[in-house]
Amino acid sequence: MIPNESGVTVIPNNNFYAGRNGLKPRYVILHGTAGGTSAVALANYFASTEGTANASSAHYIIGRAGEIVQAVSESDGAWANGYISDGHDSWWNPNINPNNITISIEHCKPSTDNSDGLTTQQQAASFRLIQHICQRWNIPMRTADANGGITGHFSMDPVNRSRCPGPYPWDQLWTYLQQGDEDMLQITDTFAATYFTDAGNGRWNCKVNNLHVMGDILNYYRRIQGAPRLPLTNENRNIPNVAWQAFEAGIIVYDPRKLLDHPAIPGNCYLVKFSDKIAQDFLLRKQLVAVSAQTNSDGQSPFQQSTLPMM
Ligand SMILES: [Zn+2]
Repeated sequence: MIPNESGVTVIPNNNFYAGRNGLKPRYVILHGTAGGTSAVALANYFASTEGTANASSAHYIIGRAGEIVQAVSESDGAWANGYISDGHDSWWNPNINPNNITISIEHCKPSTDNSDGLTTQQQAASFRLIQHICQRWNIPMRTADANGGITGHFSMDPVNRSRCPGPYPWDQLWTYLQQGDEDMLQITDTFAATYFTDAGNGRWNCKVNNLHVMGDILNYYRRIQGAPRLPLTNENRNIPNVAWQAFEAGIIVYDPRKLLDHPAIPGNCYLVKFSDKIAQDFLLRKQLVAVSAQTNSDGQSPFQQSTLPMM
């Protein structure tokens, strides 16, 4: 039998399909708890639902302090996922109970809409646990498709579970699973140490202009060794499902659905082309600001004005 995770607290319950009805886990599914901070408390809640109409469970729960509690054996199917529902990713087979082919990880998030990011400790615990599960069960360490992989609850039920798990550092996860982060730009490297301070929670502040780089865009920025140079704006979210941020030497977009462009580049971020509308609009705006700075004497430099929200 394949062993379960070692070094975790076990608080079992009986809400599972014993032996997965003969199936094996091919997916790791990430969830957010939409309330609560403690993994122990949620595991106790799962146990308290035994025999009720709301009986539920997950294999693992990761608390805000990074503590991991196991509530169901990986050999069994936890009751975490409900049904494959309208709008699901096309490769799910609605005739197979998803609980029997998945291992579910809950992440404690205090907000009832799962809008919290992970804590640093929670992220580290989550990445490590996912890696171990994938190694144990030979699950592909990449975004899920018909052959298995890792995704969120939203993939099965994008209508009711679009916010499960909510914000999750996907790009950082893929990087971690591929190579760890030792090849990325570090805050202690000369360029980063000169121009940035680490503000914690996956966020760097630029010492020159107090703009910040964060989340998946920061991860991408670090992967390309800070090549776009210093930020000219904060993250902009004026385009649905896209975030973008202008730097001195390029514009990074966070576009996981590849809505703006279709580069054959893995991950959620890429650099936009000069011909892209975002780049065109940004350059036009810069030009207008430069012209108005020449004609006005309000004392504000074009650089400062360009940090205002645009478009
Ligand atoms: Zn969920």
